[in-house]
Amino acid sequence: MRWIDGHCDVLSKLWREPGLSFYEDGPKLDVTLPRIREAGVGMQVFAIFVPPDVSRAHSWETALAQVDCFYEGVVKDERLVFPVLDRNDVEQLGMDGRLGAFLSLEGADAIQGELLHLRLLHRLGVRMVGLTWNHANEVADGIEEERGGGLTRFGRLFVREMGRFGQFLDVSHLSVRGFWEVMDQTDVPVLASHSNCRTLCPHPRNLDDDQIRALIERDGLIGLTFVPKFLHSDPDQVRLNDLFRHLDHLLDLGASRQIVFGSDFDGIDQKVPGLANTKDLSYLEERLAERYPEHLRIGWQRDNFRRFLLKHW
Ligand SMILES: [Zn+2]
Repeated sequence: MRWIDGHCDVLSKLWREPGLSFYEDGPKLDVTLPRIREAGVGMQVFAIFVPPDVSRAHSWETALAQVDCFYEGVVKDERLVFPVLDRNDVEQLGMDGRLGAFLSLEGADAIQGELLHLRLLHRLGVRMVGLTWNHANEVADGIEEERGGGLTRFGRLFVREMGRFGQFLDVSHLSVRGFWEVMDQTDVPVLASHSNCRTLCPHPRNLDDDQIRALIERDGLIGLTFVPKFLHSDPDQVRLNDLFRHLDHLLDLGASRQIVFGSDFDGIDQKVPGLANTKDLSYLEERLAERYPEHLRIGWQRDNFRRFLLKHW
């Protein structure tokens, strides 16, 4: 195992286009099993993402349909892929060449204000939950919600229930106020699965230095992401070097043991030159190896994420 990838949107593509296969290479998916095997990805996080064009009335059934895509389309052949559900599964990562598939929920909109939906998703294998996508929901405000609210009363109950299950809380997409309420008022394991540095690229989806320091102090994770508009204020100018600028900034802040990667493949149309799909992680690995010592690089590619999972499970 050479990589763990903390975020991709394969499931929403499989849900939209039932003919697509995760098991075959093709032009419509960035993350496929052949590419994962070629790049040496040992664990991939698969996000359930209900797009905003789905009405609230259909959001829950859409989330369930994507859980079905996870089991029928990804964890289809257990000789090649297995679901990562507990500590034992983390210890198995990389042992036999199989891919560990980790199920997450990107935005609690589909929960529709019902804790029983959260409990059912946990039963179905969801081990990480991002409280919001970009908009407000029953739990909290997302980062694009102009009023910038934090957690709701229901949101506090929701996070407490997550804590009961030991679910990981993903703060990417969450409002700034929501972020600080999670950090100051809860004790669940926290990560930002796909966000970069706001000091270098002032996109609201990125984390400011105080947020990064707080994640370091909490021993959380920060998933550097390949989204061009989160890497460079002019995404047409983005180069692979911009990813290293963000990485170096995190290092300057002392985040070496917190850095991981969350590609956002299959959630982005524009790509960093050289990083078109999962296969290109091999190219990224070569470039990283030119710049950084091996023990650090291995931490960011794989060991920090694994350590985080083993610490909390
Ligand atoms: Zn996202």
